[in-house]
Amino acid sequence: MTERPLLEVHALKKHFPLKAGFFGGRRNVVHALDDVSFDLARGETLSVVGESGCGKSTLGKTILRLLEPTDGAVMLDGQRVDNVPRSRLGDFRRRVQVVFQDPFSSLNPRQRVRDIIAEPIVNFGLAHGSELEDRVAALMDKVRLPRDAMRRFPHEFSGGQRQRIGIARALAPGSDLIICDEAVSALDVSVKAQIVNLLADLQDELGVALLFISHDLAIVEHLTHRVAVMYLGKIVELADRRTLFATPHHPYTRALLSAVPVPDPTVARNRIILKGDVPSPINPPDGCRFQSRCPYVFDRCRSEEPLLRPTTEPGQTSACHLDAVPA
Ligand code: SF4
Repeated sequence: MTERPLLEVHALKKHFPLKAGFFGGRRNVVHALDDVSFDLARGETLSVVGESGCGKSTLGKTILRLLEPTDGAVMLDGQRVDNVPRSRLGDFRRRVQVVFQDPFSSLNPRQRVRDIIAEPIVNFGLAHGSELEDRVAALMDKVRLPRDAMRRFPHEFSGGQRQRIGIARALAPGSDLIICDEAVSALDVSVKAQIVNLLADLQDELGVALLFISHDLAIVEHLTHRVAVMYLGKIVELADRRTLFATPHHPYTRALLSAVPVPDPTVARNRIILKGDVPSPINPPDGCRFQSRCPYVFDRCRSEEPLLRPTTEPGQTSACHLDAVPA
């Protein structure tokens, strides 16, 4: 019997109604997320990638119930968490943690590191006294910060060190899933690599699942098991890492990948420059949302929405009417 996924997301929607104009009339709606579905196994990393504004951060916030979903379902271990009162989300809040992009604003500047890491352990009543101190010390070791740093304040640390503190805080209540929302985007290249390696090591050691939201495909290649590519509020391709990087199917994924630098100077990569404008997420077009930028657009794309369907590669799904996209 196959194990039930840790996280299941079914047809998740998040729409933001805009205020009606002075003369009333039809209210416009921003379609930030439309029918997003995927699942995530225990100990797995799924990366969600796409350009700024594609809805990937909204996805993380809606799963976390920082934003209320418009429609759809989110389940943790088979239990709906999208429609229960916030007051009954205690165990979900303990098990699903987040690391945000900006380590400068996501840590309380008035709290010492020890208190920042201890807070979720205390709030969820998981330990106190010497056991609490031992747990905080062990978390400092896990994120490779010196134990004497516990007495210091966040402003005394570099960006990478602050993100280590944020990761320790996210691990503190024994979480099963960490949503990393552009968690390394604000860091220098070398520090980025250190934090990505740390996350990969922690995942191996602790078996925590990661939903890794990023605009940077080069970073996710070294961390992830599977990749979901988002465009204008929808997943347009979902595949395991090896398949997505070796044989991307969707024209948008191909364009994103063509912009990833190749470390080998003898290997040339043909950069695909997308022309055309990204449509507005306010009342997006009928048919394929990528039609205004797709080099292969044809009549059907303008009238019929392509749904995610399997390609010839095992485990790969793509939302494109073409069976094979020209090389
Ligand atoms: Fe391009 Fe049409 Fe495929 Fe959309 S459905 S990606 S417009 S070929």
